[in-house]
Amino acid sequence: MGHSDFNGRDFNRQATVAKRFELSGIGVHNGTPTKIIVSPADTNTGILFIRTDMDDAVEPEIPAHFSRVCATELCTVLGAPNGVSVSTVEHLLSSLSAFGIDNALIEIDGAEMPIMDGSSTVFVDAIKKAGVRQQRAARRFVKVLKTVSVRHGDSFGEIRPHDGFHVDVEIDFPIALIGRQRFALEVTPQSFEKELSRARTFGFMRDVERLWAAGYALGASLENTIAIGEDRIINPEGTRFPDEFVRHKALDAVGDLALAGAPILGSFSSRCGGHKLNFSLLSALFEDQDAWEYVRPGSEPAVGHADMGERMPVAAFGPDVS
Ligand SMILES: [Zn+2]
Repeated sequence: MGHSDFNGRDFNRQATVAKRFELSGIGVHNGTPTKIIVSPADTNTGILFIRTDMDDAVEPEIPAHFSRVCATELCTVLGAPNGVSVSTVEHLLSSLSAFGIDNALIEIDGAEMPIMDGSSTVFVDAIKKAGVRQQRAARRFVKVLKTVSVRHGDSFGEIRPHDGFHVDVEIDFPIALIGRQRFALEVTPQSFEKELSRARTFGFMRDVERLWAAGYALGASLENTIAIGEDRIINPEGTRFPDEFVRHKALDAVGDLALAGAPILGSFSSRCGGHKLNFSLLSALFEDQDAWEYVRPGSEPAVGHADMGERMPVAAFGPDVS
């Protein structure tokens, strides 16, 4: 797998994809075929979606940032004030984030990301095949300094200080097929690929007609969704993990938290959550100036005097170019 060895990676440096790759598929909600082209990008670009089907008068760029979230019903939608949007971004974003990709351009010729098989498998395979190129600039992390929590009815989410990125997700559906499931892991490229990336999205057969009437799930099929009937899984192959449902929720959370715009040093947990809760928690974190700070652990002071470094932490961090 050529570039797929990440052992030599310095996670304190920014990274992009080593070369471009293309993927095509249909949107799970709009049912429309789209093609995406993921390309390398310069340091400090971030992850940028670019709608290539817009006419020249329209600004086609949409940064993958929580400030651009315009809907969280069923999937996460990013939009610009001019109405240009891209939906169902979370499965690719989770893959890029878990593999430590800070900078990439994602050209898309439609309004919804291809769902592929409903998981992140295809995205992870494409990233591994393309390879990861380390860049010279130091990575900027969002370091969580104190616990922040949000509650919406039965949903609860929290993020706490942690030296790394940890997710702990619990779901509780009142049907025997799912019930209460909990899954926690420290997110690394390896753990994400092994434990989360293959977990598919899921839906309930009883909701299908209502969703179709509302214009959702038009592309959903057994090729891209675990379909849950009254008392059984409709997909003939069954589930990939007994707890595939909660693993998918953890995958979604990794993707939604990538909208922080920088890797998070923190421990996330949620109960009965989803895209809306994840977005609320990010918003609450960034609203509280005492709850987080940017750190650049890969940025060394230019002068090697240890006694000066102690007193000059800001000078060591370089300009904030976001
Ligand atoms: Zn999902």
